[in-house]
Amino acid sequence: MFLGMLTGVSAQAAPAANCPGHPDAIGTSRTLVVDPRQYPLIGTMQYAKTLPLEDHEVVLTFDDGPLPKYSNQILDILAAHCAKATFFLVGRQANANPEGVRKMRDAGHTIATHTQNHPGNMNRLSIDGAKKEIEDGIASITSALADGTAPSPFFRIPGLGRSDVIEAYAEAKGLQIWSADFPADDWRPVSSQRVYDLAMQRLEAKGKGILLLHDIQARTVAALPRILSDLKARGYRLVHVVPATPDRPATPTEPSQWQLHPVSEQVATSRWPKIPNFAYTATAALPAPALSDSDWRNTAPADRVQRRALRDALWSRQVTLVLDPPALPVPAPGVFKLPESIRVTMLYSPPSARKVEPTAPAAHEVSAKQAARPAKHAKHGGKGAAKHAQVKPAKKVRMAGLKKR
Ligand SMILES: [Zn+2]
Repeated sequence: MFLGMLTGVSAQAAPAANCPGHPDAIGTSRTLVVDPRQYPLIGTMQYAKTLPLEDHEVVLTFDDGPLPKYSNQILDILAAHCAKATFFLVGRQANANPEGVRKMRDAGHTIATHTQNHPGNMNRLSIDGAKKEIEDGIASITSALADGTAPSPFFRIPGLGRSDVIEAYAEAKGLQIWSADFPADDWRPVSSQRVYDLAMQRLEAKGKGILLLHDIQARTVAALPRILSDLKARGYRLVHVVPATPDRPATPTEPSQWQLHPVSEQVATSRWPKIPNFAYTATAALPAPALSDSDWRNTAPADRVQRRALRDALWSRQVTLVLDPPALPVPAPGVFKLPESIRVTMLYSPPSARKVEPTAPAAHEVSAKQAARPAKHAKHGGKGAAKHAQVKPAKKVRMAGLKKR
């Protein structure tokens, strides 16, 4: 289907030392080959899995091009740093500027797709409408490449407007949906300084990950040189991601390397029993958490709060998703029969303390499909979760700008 998928094949990673004329370039430290079918949903902004990066490894992604005025400058900057990235291109943009697509390919970057028209409400389109956006986008990029090859099977949903339908279709088609690990808000009317600050702050907070940028913004052009220079200065390494092909097997990895939020010693151990059920329903073994990969250490307090909110929200849903009615300790009625003498005390207990409902009904609400696909539901907002989460109400998840991208 994705005949070729050759974008970036010939251009293997160029270490900084091999960036002629640019001794200070960060270069590209390695090429990561991934099998989209093995991990169809990646990016911790929305999903439970992300690219299997080592600490201090960064993957650059640019959306919405090609737009010559800015995309060409982005390409020049990346070339000056021997940096390889992934471009999520819009079909309509490619139709208007097919040469721009070829420039990206010829520079060795990975060519990926981002729908035909960049609909702002992708998750509200009909299934046919969503399919058409995806298909037309791929067709336009394929046409622009004009060498008989197709773009990589990497796909990013506009505005990260995911839905079960879109994900199911993409997965059936062999596409890998890329969310991101952190944005830099460069689609917003902020200064290039702000873009730089956010990129570095969020990267420092996570320690590694997929950076979401746009190659159609002046502020991104202005911020990128400093981002690349500082990445190098701070010891980060760029990773170029390409899809596996029959001739190019996927880089060997362990399932745990793709997992969201590796275990941290700062997390209360009492919560751990819930994790494996959530994360590994489809695997036989429960990977041991890697302390060295801790995602939550050394983060700013504000960011920790945000993570905790996200984590709690996820877990509150995990709880309901993994509930197995027979295993639930439903208290016997006799438990609540208190001696006459203490009943007075009960009258003064706060209302919330008396609202102890059996949690079994929540479990009954979980369909077989939900139970089989817990990771998908982990990324919904608080609404559905609140309905299910009787054990613990879902907290509102506040993530940086998912609105328009
Ligand atoms: Zn976009």
